[in-house]
Amino acid sequence: MATIHILPDQVANQIAAGEVIERPAAVVKELVENSLDAGATRVEVEFRSGGRAYIRVEDNGDGMGRDDALLALERHATSKIAAAADLDRLATFGFRGEALPSIASVSRFELQTRAGGDEAGTEILVNGGRLNPVRDCGRPVGTRVVVSHLFNSVPARRKFLKSDATESAHIIHCVRLYALACPQAAFTLIEDGRVIFRSPECATTAERVAEIFGRQMADSLLGVEADDAGLRLRGLIGRPGVGRATRHEMITFVNRRPVDSRTLSYALIESYHESIPKGRYPLAFLFLELDPAAVDVNVHPAKREVRFRNEPQVRAFVIRTILGRLGELGREAMAPSIPGSGAIPPGGCDTGVDLRAVPPPPPPESRIAAPFPVFRPSLAPSGGVALPGTTGATVAAGTPASTPIAPPSRSRWRYVGLAHGVYALFETDAGLVLLDRRAAHERVWYERLREQFATAKVGTQRLLLPVPVELDAITTELLLERLAFLNGHGFEIVEFGRNFFRVEGVPEWMEPADVESFLRDLLGALREGLLVAKDIDLARDELARLAAVRAIRLPDGASEREMQALVAGLFSCRQPLTNPAGRPTFIELNHGELARRFQK
Ligand code: ADP
Ligand code: MG
Repeated sequence: MATIHILPDQVANQIAAGEVIERPAAVVKELVENSLDAGATRVEVEFRSGGRAYIRVEDNGDGMGRDDALLALERHATSKIAAAADLDRLATFGFRGEALPSIASVSRFELQTRAGGDEAGTEILVNGGRLNPVRDCGRPVGTRVVVSHLFNSVPARRKFLKSDATESAHIIHCVRLYALACPQAAFTLIEDGRVIFRSPECATTAERVAEIFGRQMADSLLGVEADDAGLRLRGLIGRPGVGRATRHEMITFVNRRPVDSRTLSYALIESYHESIPKGRYPLAFLFLELDPAAVDVNVHPAKREVRFRNEPQVRAFVIRTILGRLGELGREAMAPSIPGSGAIPPGGCDTGVDLRAVPPPPPPESRIAAPFPVFRPSLAPSGGVALPGTTGATVAAGTPASTPIAPPSRSRWRYVGLAHGVYALFETDAGLVLLDRRAAHERVWYERLREQFATAKVGTQRLLLPVPVELDAITTELLLERLAFLNGHGFEIVEFGRNFFRVEGVPEWMEPADVESFLRDLLGALREGLLVAKDIDLARDELARLAAVRAIRLPDGASEREMQALVAGLFSCRQPLTNPAGRPTFIELNHGELARRFQK
């Protein structure tokens, strides 16, 4: 018969350590959290050899008296909660009382600490889980923990560690996270005797970002702040067009705690859907604050993951806030000169048309009726190409009677010429602007189409010669699922026998000659899982994006009038700074930049 026995503490601690202390960075995390929980305003972290050989975390927090210091090494000894219900009011990083005993069970662990009123400090040494005699020591109020020979007693764990460089990268990332979480504390991080960063106390997150990631990065970010129904979001986010190859710079905090939250990362990615290219990730430092009772931090051993009680509310709030901020930026770009505003066009935008006076886009009916001459050059009025939705009296430059021409102003964009058929050069008071004509057309088109899809039925033009399409079984299935959606948006595609279809009509906006190539794109998108019928808004977005990005045919030449109308159209968009795929529509070279390049 099997006999049941209680595991000795040492073994229980090692097992707990397996979950909580998976690598040197986890030791650093736990110790830094303890320092911050102890109210430290100065935290110093030093490590060697990726943390395996040596980790020291020292603080000027409250420190501990001798009895507490001894107790702290017991399993489940914590000063932070007393009952499970306290988790709903949690204001500290720690609460399980597991970290110190776990770390001490897998290392040589040395603790020196002194509490405020005490004469002497206490020094405790635990080696391989065995407590050495406790001694007095001299030290200022606060705590210093030195962890060495990590995992020496647990070879299995040691084997799983990566190279020193990798472990060190994890430690650096971890300390950065806590430095961001608590800008009011001064932080120092030292690796193998070299200072990685040293940041004084900072008044704001932006200052802290500047201290640890550099001023340039900090200046390039946008501040966000919003409050709604008990949720508060603040932080710094990247500008449209600025994306990263990895997710590592999507940094999120919930009630100050750095967390990996799927809800938050997906909300971020979705918010930037249109503002950065596909496959790139946003850059963000986001701090969400909410009632501790509305979030469960006790779902992961290292507390890296959290669960919100109301995920949809959090998600919607984050998306709304970020989209709102990115949208505002588009409007700021239109406003008259904003000095020193970096990547956004400081001069605003003026092509002889006062953009602030550009009337709102015409009502959808007139847009539906409007031809889309960019796609059908033959229909374009001579001497210029009208833009979708800008035909008629809105911004058709060159019809002075109906166009509000602005008086020459500081913020005008003066058209200089077209290079390579693609880049339109403008002179502005602030310097030069290079506009990517295609990207700009795509943006204008995309927004017009999207609105058209949402507000009116799309007309169909019947093809003289229907286009037959043969597909494989999988694509057939996908197309059948979306057929009603496509046919509701101007297509007329009919099933015509097994795996055969016939395109009999295409949307009004499409040049019939483009039907085959567009269809190929469309099928590709279906295969990638896009245009999902159950979310009609998203499917419309994707259809509009496909249409705008792939189907544009630009005439070779560009008249000044076309370019002016294009810029005006662009700046009546919600998000003029990027094309629908998130690439910039224009770049600006200001006088400072030009002078620098010419070494003036
Ligand atoms: P937890 O943080 O979950 O409470 P730990 O094992 O990390 O558990 O720490 C146990 C206790 O030791 C803490 O509750 C705290 O009272 C005390 N402690 C740990 N580190 C420090 C420190 N740097 N300064 C002051 N007290 C500390
Ligand atoms: Mg702790």
